[in-house]
Amino acid sequence: MNKKKQIYLDYNSTTPCAPEVVRGMLPYFTKEFGNPSSSHKEGKLASLGVLRARELIANAIGANSRSLVFTSGATESNNLALLGVPRRDTSRKKILVSAIEHKSVLAASRSLIGAGYSVEFIPVSNNGVINLDAASRLIDKSTLIVSVQAANNETGAIQPIKEIARLAHNKGALCHCDAAQMLGKQPVRVEDMNVDLASFSAHKVYGPKGIGVLFFANDNLKSSMRPLLWGGGQEDGIRSGTLNVPGIIGFGKACDLVSKDLSKQISHLSVIQDIFEKNVLRTIPEARINCSRTKRIPGTISLTIPGIPADMLMANTPELCVSNGSACNAGALEPSYVLLAMGVSRDDAEATIRISLGRVTTHQDVLMSCKILIRTIRELRLKLGV
Ligand code: PMP
Repeated sequence: MNKKKQIYLDYNSTTPCAPEVVRGMLPYFTKEFGNPSSSHKEGKLASLGVLRARELIANAIGANSRSLVFTSGATESNNLALLGVPRRDTSRKKILVSAIEHKSVLAASRSLIGAGYSVEFIPVSNNGVINLDAASRLIDKSTLIVSVQAANNETGAIQPIKEIARLAHNKGALCHCDAAQMLGKQPVRVEDMNVDLASFSAHKVYGPKGIGVLFFANDNLKSSMRPLLWGGGQEDGIRSGTLNVPGIIGFGKACDLVSKDLSKQISHLSVIQDIFEKNVLRTIPEARINCSRTKRIPGTISLTIPGIPADMLMANTPELCVSNGSACNAGALEPSYVLLAMGVSRDDAEATIRISLGRVTTHQDVLMSCKILIRTIRELRLKLGV
């Protein structure tokens, strides 16, 4: 293992737990370990903690606490939204998702093809934003559900969710939004977004891994949902299984931090993003930031260095923790489907790294990582003759 100091620049992949989150969780592993479904005192203490955390999470996303169902993260929330959606109207056989959704949305919807459903993709313009005209043509009376993310994990591009929800509702379809990357980087008010279902994950906002929620806009939808997990009937029967109490407490604390200092975080991320981008673009003129003119969540930088393969750049900058495409793609040799869907060439997609900054990234980290990147790019350029 490399002993050099690492600079972590992969906060869209996951974040460290905030100290307040860990402190809040600790008693729930040992002292207050009860099962919240138990009726004795220990159970009631755990249940009270869950109740408070549910309120903090609801508050951070502008929802009613009754509208939330705990899951194991955004992957499960996305699966539940797409696979559990009520399918009473048999004429609605079309599932519409954007071409740049997270794999948990793409794969969950594709799994319904065998059950007689069709999956169609809303195309994306080269600015990384879904094409609303195309969406409006694709959404029709046969559409069951439309699923579009709030912000893309690779480019940071913010999507027009309100408009998509309006188009879906006009045709009687439901609208789901994967908002995992939006929370903590932009204000999120699910009721204003007008979506029927929305997914969130704690580990993207300095909370623990393995806990998330699915938001339901109304009780009717919630009560007609088909669960993925059957058993003890927790979470109003929608998600059976003993609640992950420490995880829930940690998610609640993380959301409390979001509610308290979102604007401070946004301005910190915007400032350090600006420093990074200006530094790199000034010294490497052919470098390109994808979606640079699009409204993005602050801190996400999709950087293309034409002619320099991302894998090679990363292998030569072991002190930097960055990602090529999304971390969930790692291991797969295919270039990012998100960039390809935006019309980026295969070669350029393969020459793209994703840098995502976080609340604990310092100015010093940014300056040092620019220095390392710029030096390595120059060396590789000489070596490759590009
Ligand atoms: N959706 C998006 C947009 C994501 O970025 C991620 C995490 N890569 C997920 C869903 C999956 O979240 P989780 O790790 O909580 O399952």
